Formats: sequence, structure tokens, C-alpha cells
Amino acid sequence: MSERLHFQAEIQQLLDIVIHSLYTDREIFIRELVSNGADACERLRFLQSSGQAVLQPDVDPCISVRADEQEHTVTVADTGIGMTRAELVENLGTIAHSGTRAFLRQLAEEKRPDAKLIGQFGVGFYSAFMVASQVTVLSRSGVPGEPGWRWTSEGAGGYDIEPADDLPRGTQVIVHLKDDAREFARGDTVKRVLQRYSSFVQFPIELNGSRLNSVQAIWSRPKGEVKEDEYHEFYRYLGHDAEVPLLRLHFTVDAPLSIQALLFVPQSNWENLGLGRTEPGVNLYCRKVLIQSHAKNLLPDWLRFLKGVVDSEDLPLNISRETMQDSALMQKINKALAGRFLKFLEDTAEKDAGAYEKFYAEYQRFLKEGVATDFQHRESLGTLLRFESSVREKGKVTSLADYVARMPSDQKEVYYLLAPTRDAAEASPYFEVFKARGFEVLFLFDPWDEFVMEHLHAFAGKNLRPAEKTNLDLGDKTSQEGGLSDDDASGLTRWLKEKIGDRVNDVRVSKRLVDSPAVILESDQVLTSSMRKILQAVKREGDGPAGAKPDLEINPRHVVITRLEAVRHVDEGLATMVGEQVFDNALVAAGLLDDPRTMLKRLNDLLERTLAARG
Ligand code: ADP
Repeated sequence: MSERLHFQAEIQQLLDIVIHSLYTDREIFIRELVSNGADACERLRFLQSSGQAVLQPDVDPCISVRADEQEHTVTVADTGIGMTRAELVENLGTIAHSGTRAFLRQLAEEKRPDAKLIGQFGVGFYSAFMVASQVTVLSRSGVPGEPGWRWTSEGAGGYDIEPADDLPRGTQVIVHLKDDAREFARGDTVKRVLQRYSSFVQFPIELNGSRLNSVQAIWSRPKGEVKEDEYHEFYRYLGHDAEVPLLRLHFTVDAPLSIQALLFVPQSNWENLGLGRTEPGVNLYCRKVLIQSHAKNLLPDWLRFLKGVVDSEDLPLNISRETMQDSALMQKINKALAGRFLKFLEDTAEKDAGAYEKFYAEYQRFLKEGVATDFQHRESLGTLLRFESSVREKGKVTSLADYVARMPSDQKEVYYLLAPTRDAAEASPYFEVFKARGFEVLFLFDPWDEFVMEHLHAFAGKNLRPAEKTNLDLGDKTSQEGGLSDDDASGLTRWLKEKIGDRVNDVRVSKRLVDSPAVILESDQVLTSSMRKILQAVKREGDGPAGAKPDLEINPRHVVITRLEAVRHVDEGLATMVGEQVFDNALVAAGLLDDPRTMLKRLNDLLERTLAARG
């Protein structure tokens, strides 16, 4: 009655890689199998605590590992939830978990694939094939009335499945070791691995009949009593991460809700590594019973990088996973946790600037995502943002709070400027008027930042304004003397408008320019030049220009402009070329010149004329 089935193509591909290219850190297969056993025990306990009947209710959930040097096998057995035939087929061969594809992609990019990654992608079972010539799974579902099954595979060529009599509840995974992996049949080797990775499993673990771990819910112990090492080990177990965490928050609150929480920030932001979207990493418990691992609504989405445990006595144990998704209680817990974590970040920024800087470098995108998507926490998130600023040296950042504290009394708003680099920001024509007036400008280099500022809108009662859209004039800080008369200036602007034609909306005299001859300003009230740039990048051929046509402002004191006014009356051909070039130069400065070919041809003609005048 044995039946041979095939692995789904992606699983087969994964297995081929696991079998043929993973040689380091092979020991983690034990951790993965134990972790699956613990999950199965958690699910059984959940079923029981919500009042459902299970097979062999008197058998406690536990995990036993057996290392057999004679048989060259290592077996990981659990008395957990078990699997029906359909579940065996589905879980161990058919369905590509969302992680499978991402894992394959990552492996394809790595020169030396690393087995450590396996656990992070939810493909842990297959890691057994790093060391196995054959894997046998005996399983019987905890649902009363279900028979048992034997699943066997050599990795290549599919798997066999057949009924198996007299199985106890749960799953036994028997790993028949390859010749080069026989060390894993030795009790002392397996013991070392279990102690390294699995001390914090919330169920008893036995090795060859003797008890190994002492089950402890580390999060429910008083903070002062938990040792640094224990935290690290717990994190290693929970986060499937070999590194120590970057930040840790362990706290208890009693009112309005009772919550115990232990939260970790990993050293690296895995989304930055191109591993796709991080799944939520915090598990929800009620009185030490797991209610849901990777709980979705427990924290706002922008905190999905956190790993850890939250335990709340206020949750009814028999709450169903579905109703929990949107219960008011979950929303309360969510809010309390996010608020507490934000406060913790603020404290860290204050007391340990180095740690905060590191955190910010890795995770700023999440905070910005929060500003854009989470109205409730927008204000506190604003406090955590950091930007370079015109009053601080290159590479150093400032907070909005510090900026506001520095504002002179005649400055009413907070100004920011998006630029590709620090040098470009300082040389930008948009910056000139602020520099002349002694107003600080935040320099933003991340294209997201402009949208973030728009969502944030204001900070400490001060509006946040894009420098380029601000109608600031030089006031009396810089002499307005010299340059064109008002009549000449308005004559020139009219003439320029006519010559540049339909590429420009309006040509005006500028009150903000010091060193540049001209500047592009958006006539559109909302659009900034960088937004227009993004629109231009995504527009399709034939779409026409993105947004409204821009305005040009000229500096009536700049020598190019004053000479242009004189020359246009004697050599209109040359003046037209120069006028168009001034406009194109301003577009370049704004990063908005679409196609430089016409401009380059004109520039060459101008060079030719300049040189000819000398020759
Ligand atoms: P993950 O455990 O990360 O989901 P795996 O590849 O390790 O991925 O396992 C695939 C699935 O097989 C699990 O999600 C689970 O449904 C099932 N499974 C694996 N081991 C066991 C076990 N010991 N008991 C019950 N189900 C298991």
C-alpha cells in the first residue's frame, strides 16, 4: 500500500541544494527538527487549552532525542499535534512555503551558501537532508480517530508514504546519517548542539532518556535576575540568529493591561539584505501558553523587525486565532507595546547615542514607514528621525527637536531640502536665501524623506516646509542694490518668457538668489522638483511632461543676467542662445533636464562663438 509521490519542483530544487552544497553549520538540522517538535507541542497545547478533545490526552507534550551510534541514526520525536496523511503530503513536499522562493534566491546569490539561513526562511525540515542518506517520518495526528503514517525519502526522486500501525500521538523524525555525518549519532555531539540552540524550548527535552533543559519562561522572570548570557541564548533560540541582538527591551506593565514583554532588535535589518518583507517576529503567549507565533496584529506593521515574546494574562485562553485578529483587546495591547517601544527608543537615543545611531542606520526606513502609515504614533516617530543639517558638519545629524530649539525668533518654519549629496545641497540655488538669512536647512538624501516630511507635516507646532517651495526673500540681510532697474528686469523677464516659450510657465525676478543667475521653481503648489523627477522617471513615452510647467526666477544682480539684458538689444541671436542656456542650466541644477542633447549642441555653438570672438 506504499505510494510514491513527487516533491513539488521548488522543494526538489531546494533539496538538491541542501544535499549538494551545504557543508558548514550542518548541526543546525537538530535545532530545526527540535523547533518543529516544539511547535507541534505548542499547537497541541493550544488545542487542549481551547477545550478540544485530543488523542492520548494524558501524554504531556515533550520532545525526546535519541542518538544511536550502532544504527547511525539520530531521531527527534515529539508528542505534539502530529500530521494526517494530507498534512504530511502538504507540509513535507507540496506547498512551497513563502520562504522557499526567497531562500532559493538568496542561495543563488551567495558564493558559499550558508546553512544558518535555513531557519530564517521556514524551510527547516529539509535541513535534515544535509546529513541524511534517508529520512523517515512517523506521524499520527492528535485529532482522535486518525491513523498513523510512515513517510520516507532519500531526498532525490520523491518520497514514499504508507500507513503505520500502533503509533503514539505526535511525530518521530528518524535521520539515517550519511557516512560523513556520523558524528551526529554520538550522544555528546548531540548534547552539545542541543545545549547550544535549544535550552529555551518551552517543553521538556530528553536525550537518550535523560532530561536536558529546564523549562523556563525567561520573560516572566524579574529583569534583575536574568543574566546577559541567558538573554543572548534565548534570542539565539527565538530569532534563529547567531549574532547577539542590537537592542533589548524587557518590561512588565500591570495597568491598564497586564503585559510581560521581551523584545529584541536584531543586528541587521534583513529587509536590507534583499530577503523580501520581514514577517512579524513576536510570539504571543497567555500565562506561558503560546497563543500565536509570529502574531500579526500584536504590533504595528512597521515594527515587524522585532523578535520576542509578549505574554498577557488578560487574553482569554480559548480565544480563537481568527477573532483575535481584530479584537479590541489586541488593539489595546498593540498600542501599549508600540508606545512603550517608542519611549524606549527615545531613551536609548538620549542615553546611548552610539547604540541609537547604529539602530537608526539599520532601521530608519521602518520609522519612516511608520510616519507615513501610522497616524497614532506619527508624533513620537517624528522625534526619532535624524537628518543632516546646514549648521552641522557633513555626516553629523540632528533631530527635529534640536532644530526647533535653535530656531531664531524671526524664523517661523522648519526648512528641508532634498539633494543627492551634501555638496549638491550646499551648492543648490535653493539654499542660497536660507544661508544668507542664517536659517538652518535640513538636508535630506533619501528620496523617501520628502514624502515622510509631508506626512509628518509639522513638528512641535512648526510647519515643515520644502526650501524650494518657500517664498522667502533676502530681506535686508543682503543688499538689494545694484543690478537691473525694475523696468529693465521686467523687460527681460517678458522677453525670456517669449524666447523659452512653452517649456516655461512664468519668468520672474527672484528675491532669493545670491550666487546663481537663475533657479527653477515649481509652479505646482504640491509638487517639489524631486517629486517631479520621480514622476518623470515613471512616466511612459508620449505622456508629456510630468506636472505643470515650472517657473524660472532670474537674479537681477548676477552678471550673466545684467549682460544678457544689454546684449539682447544688439545681438538677439546670441542672447536667445544664452537665455535658453540659463534656463537649461537651472533645470540641470534642479535635476530636471530630460534630454541634454539639444542643450549640448547649443553649448558647443556658444563655445565656438566665444572662441571665435578671441581669434
Ligand atoms: P516551518 O516549520 O518553518 O513551517 P518546515 O519545513 O520545518 O517549515 O516544516 C514544514 C511544515 O511541516 C511545518 O510548518 C509543520 O506544519 C509541519 N511539521 C514539520 N515538523 C513537524 C512536526 N514534528 N510535527 C507536526 N508538524 C510538523
